[in-house]
Amino acid sequence: MHISRVGISKLCFLLSLAFCAFLLLLIPTLQPQQRHSELPQPRPNTRTTGGRTGTASRHSSHTVAIPLQQPATRDSSAAPRGRTGEPKKPDTSAVRKAQSTSKRNNPPNWSSDRYPTGPIRPHPGEKLELKDIFIAVKTTRKYHKSRLELLFQTWVSQAKKQTFIFTDGEDKELRSRAGDNVINTNCSAAHTRQALCCKMSVEYDKFIESQRKWFCHVDDDNYVILPSLLLLLSSYSHTQDVYLGRPSLDHPIEAAERVKSDGSTSVKFWFATGGAGFCISRGLALKMSPWASLGNFISTAEKIRLPDDCTIGYIIEALLEVPMTHTRLFHSHLENLQRLPSETVLRQVTLSYGGYENRRNVVSIGGAFSLTEDPSRFKTVHCLLYPETNWCPSKKHH
Ligand code: UDP
Ligand code: MN
Repeated sequence: MHISRVGISKLCFLLSLAFCAFLLLLIPTLQPQQRHSELPQPRPNTRTTGGRTGTASRHSSHTVAIPLQQPATRDSSAAPRGRTGEPKKPDTSAVRKAQSTSKRNNPPNWSSDRYPTGPIRPHPGEKLELKDIFIAVKTTRKYHKSRLELLFQTWVSQAKKQTFIFTDGEDKELRSRAGDNVINTNCSAAHTRQALCCKMSVEYDKFIESQRKWFCHVDDDNYVILPSLLLLLSSYSHTQDVYLGRPSLDHPIEAAERVKSDGSTSVKFWFATGGAGFCISRGLALKMSPWASLGNFISTAEKIRLPDDCTIGYIIEALLEVPMTHTRLFHSHLENLQRLPSETVLRQVTLSYGGYENRRNVVSIGGAFSLTEDPSRFKTVHCLLYPETNWCPSKKHH
């Protein structure tokens, strides 16, 4: 039998076509399962790989040049000092980042009241209680009266034992009110990256010491809706790697990561905006220890020269390669809070209110108090959640 060369080539060509088709059919089954489904957009396929030794494997071919901007360091002219008081190097780095933690509006279509639709893992026999959660409130001396007072009056009163106030100055009145739940970090009172990272570092250490199951961080202008927080956390296991929060950008941040003396390499990761609050499971927090415990958080932050909340994202997403679970139940005043539908407000996990520069940015909810009586709407929310509270007007009519 005579088979021509052309015949053989044709056969080979057809065989390779068949092989390719077979491979294509296999692709869907080989793809890893999506872990969390409440992502605002598909996760980027430019995820950097890493780990302590993995910098060489990082690829930045898809990275975009992003304007330089310094986050949360509005006071960067003030000499920044670390927790131990030593002067830090001035921040002159070329940090490439998408946007700051704090100065960006949210992605559109954020006003969802959905609970995460990710894998819900019920834990028979393990019921989550408030005492299992460590809630860290970051504050500063000048806000003890103007901001903390309102929190003590409202949600903190329902979680006195699990709420820890991290501040930067001794205050007898606050101490007598909250006792050992006030932690004077001795960090600088400046609003600098170093000072904020110093506070976060103390928050982390205190949480590890506490033996509790969940670490949740909030700012002093957040209202925590405790029943919603419990409900949300109880759908995850504290022994798994869980990092829950709201991204402040609609894309991962890109940072220049300093590596030894030979310059820097680009790294991309998601982070949860600190102003909306975020939570971390104990299992994951323990893994963060080499980069977060004791003084390590501050040196990790120095490596990427980004604020505290970005550094948390960097440790979890870039170094530990644990993806953040995106949720829309956490809210900061960088969003348009009025757009949150009234009937969904009480189902959120955190709320906030606009500062003096944007007083009208508050959740729209009617109830016990007028806007003048309750400009932040926190008292109104509180009375709807806990109508039995003695200062809630509904009480008067009974
Ligand atoms: N904060 C701080 N030190 C400061 C200023 C602010 O620790 O010098 C804290 C403040 O108490 C709050 C958080 O940082 O918990 C964010 O501050 P703020 O709400 O004033 O700023 P923004 O939300 O606009 O970033
Ligand atoms: Mn704020």
